[in-house]
Amino acid sequence: NGSVRDRPGVANSPHSIMASLFNLTGQHVLITGATRGIGQACALALAQAGASVCLVVRPGYNPSQIATLNALRALDTQPSGPQHSFVECDMADLKQLRTVVDRALPLLDNNIHILVNCAGIQRRAPAVDFSEDDWDDVITTNLKAVFLLSRAAGKHMVPLRRGKIINFGSLMNFQGGVTVPAYAAAKGGVGQLTKALSNEWAQHNVQVNAICPGYIATDMNEWLLSDPVRLRQISERIPAGRWGKPEDFAGPVIFLASQSSAYVTGELLVVDGGWMGR
Ligand code: NDP
Repeated sequence: NGSVRDRPGVANSPHSIMASLFNLTGQHVLITGATRGIGQACALALAQAGASVCLVVRPGYNPSQIATLNALRALDTQPSGPQHSFVECDMADLKQLRTVVDRALPLLDNNIHILVNCAGIQRRAPAVDFSEDDWDDVITTNLKAVFLLSRAAGKHMVPLRRGKIINFGSLMNFQGGVTVPAYAAAKGGVGQLTKALSNEWAQHNVQVNAICPGYIATDMNEWLLSDPVRLRQISERIPAGRWGKPEDFAGPVIFLASQSSAYVTGELLVVDGGWMGR
């Protein structure tokens, strides 16, 4: 029952503040969607902050060809340093999704401190032509997977009274988009799920937040990036004057994964170069 002033995390020198607030040494991360794009940049940033990272990858990858795993392992050459690993799961396959956290736990010393739900797909078609198969794939990969992995990780985190879950939303948390009905519905759901889990688990010291990217130059936006006119129109509308890069997520993800966000939960952190405020 110490006073508010006695609470941990209030360090007394710049060096100790950095060490206590942003250091992830000893933390174990399970991350989806990190073979490329934003997830890859997040996995590397979390490892650089000291965490051990287990990647969730689509079945069938040749382990030596998982570029993110190779990059993670190249970061640290000390045998005593963080160990990185991977577990297979097709994020559109419910059967695989139901077991992936249990399969990952032994690779993480039976300890998940941080879950990052970054995998996502987008399918585009006018609503009247949008197929049920596309609807199911998008809703499963982008929304139900987030629930299933968070539920399994939460079962582990809640009794231990610590944990961080970081989901990926989108500008579609705030706008409906055009020709992306399933994506918009899924991302809207991710936002509300983030708040619902946060409401239940805040009292157990498990923080659940979401990052909502704006226009980021990744494969998901190849259809826009390859069209010079649209590319320029979007750049001009972004107050920051440029598209986002995967590396722009290093700071936000370390913030939400670390003690620096101990009192931040149920939050949707928009990372969009100012797009939403325009
Ligand atoms: P990318 O398309 O670059 O990467 C998608 C990632 O998800 C890849 O690692 C991919 O694996 C993985 N993935 C997709 N489907 C499956 C599956 N069935 N099983 C296993 N893994 C799968 O996406 P971004 O990096 O651009 O996006 C990351 C997150 O940010 C997503 O949730 C996205 O919705 C969100 N976002 C992105 C924005 C942007 O502008 N880029 C804007 C707003 C939100 P594989 O390499 O094997 O295909």
